[in-house]
Amino acid sequence: MKPADRAAFAVAAGQKIFPEYAENYESAFSFAWHLAEFNLGGWAEWSETGRKEAYPVLCEPDGRLYLAGEHLSYLGGWQAGAIESAWQQIAKIHARVQQA
Ligand SMILES: Cc1cc2nc3c(=O)[nH]c(=O)nc-3n(C[C@H](O)[C@H](O)[C@H](O)COP(=O)(O)OP(=O)(O)OC[C@H]3O[C@@H](n4cnc5c(N)ncnc54)[C@H](O)[C@@H]3O)c2cc1C
Repeated sequence: MKPADRAAFAVAAGQKIFPEYAENYESAFSFAWHLAEFNLGGWAEWSETGRKEAYPVLCEPDGRLYLAGEHLSYLGGWQAGAIESAWQQIAKIHARVQQA
């Protein structure tokens, strides 16, 4: 859909739940996440195999490189996942520093 059509669709859908939705609508912004270069989506989705094989590898550091983000959590698509992942990696960095 074109952006204006997406907005009209969203307002019509919202109107079904909140009758006053349309009269309070001012403007809209939409973005096709699957077309975002490199992202190709709004959040990560793991296959069963990926979760089993790639996920544990990506959670471990590679030298000084530590990866963190919602994609490296079991709360994919949520800020809480990003925070949880960050805490996990911070704990690893902390342990490493203490050993040095
Ligand atoms: C449409 C939508 C709605 C959402 N709604 C909610 C919601 O209601 N509640 C909720 O909890 N979560 C929601 N989320 C999910 C939440 O936004 C993400 O889970 C969270 O922002 C992920 O945080 P992150 O730090 O893993 O990644 P990001 O927030 O994506 O941070 C990654 C950062 O790295 C930067 N970056 C990328 N490449 C490079 C590079 N090469 N060099 C330097 N910087 C780089 C990016 O610019 C970005 O700032 C939503 C997501 C979407 C897309």
